[in-house]
Amino acid sequence: MGSSPDPARPRGKAAAKLQAAQQALSRFPRRKAEDHTANHGVAAKAGLNRSINDAGWGVFLTVLPAKAESAGQEVIAVDAGNTSRTCPQGGHVSVGNRPTREKFHCLSCDHSAYADTVGTVNVLRAGLVHREAQPPA
Ligand SMILES: [Zn+2]
Repeated sequence: MGSSPDPARPRGKAAAKLQAAQQALSRFPRRKAEDHTANHGVAAKAGLNRSINDAGWGVFLTVLPAKAESAGQEVIAVDAGNTSRTCPQGGHVSVGNRPTREKFHCLSCDHSAYADTVGTVNVLRAGLVHREAQPPA
């Protein structure tokens, strides 16, 4: 038997937080996914706002840190602004860097990649910068 923690079995403070979050989550009835693609413009925005306000995001953001802690991970909130429009190679920011929803193509240096990969790399970098700026106590 090893002494390393099993990430699948939360213990201690993290377990208590996770249990409290799961109890909070259980108060909300499960809903079937709605088709938001059928909405357009204002209706889509209203639908999104309704989804956020129905406490789904609030519960998710309550559960996430405890779940991450129980798995030995950390959560760092970052500003996602322009993360999908910023070139990870040279930092050039432009709406034009996204010729399609799926593609990233830097207008400055010609770097090309899958758009979600670029966004993910930029979000990770923002988190690492935030962590460097505020070392743990
Ligand atoms: Zn570039």
